[in-house]
Amino acid sequence: MTSCLFCKIIEGSIPGEIIYEDDHVVAFMDIGPVSEGHLLLIPKTHRENIYDMTEDEAARLFSVAPRIANALKEEFTPAGLNLLQNNGSAAGQAVYHFHMHFIPRFDQTDGFQFTWDPKVEELPQDRIRQIAEGIRSKLQN
Ligand code: 5GP
Ligand code: ZN
Repeated sequence: MTSCLFCKIIEGSIPGEIIYEDDHVVAFMDIGPVSEGHLLLIPKTHRENIYDMTEDEAARLFSVAPRIANALKEEFTPAGLNLLQNNGSAAGQAVYHFHMHFIPRFDQTDGFQFTWDPKVEELPQDRIRQIAEGIRSKLQN
């Protein structure tokens, strides 16, 4: 018996308001929503976060995203829609089964914040070029 909350929702051993399911993914309503329609899309296979996903699992999961987004658009006509996916506690991950949030946005007073101060002085263009080189080298492995 799994101890993972989201695996339990997939298995049906705890309740979840499921809105979509296929062989690979499940989408269900978030129990602590930012706004009306806030839901989560997860792989059926237990994966902690993005680092553990195979390319096929990621592709299958995201292939459903436009359909879910359009269902939310049709249902709520929100002013905007954020897709959000947290990896690790420093990034705000609380449940360690990969999940992508779909957060319809109706106004900017809904308490959801996603802003930053651009680090243009600490990270000037030549530093960004160096950083890019480091990442490129990892992708060539
Ligand atoms: P995270 O911070 O890990 O990206 O987001 C976890 C999300 O899971 C939160 O938005 C939280 O409200 C939601 N959540 C936590 N426990 C449950 C649960 O038992 N059922 C459902 N449907 N959502 C949950
Ligand atoms: Zn799980």
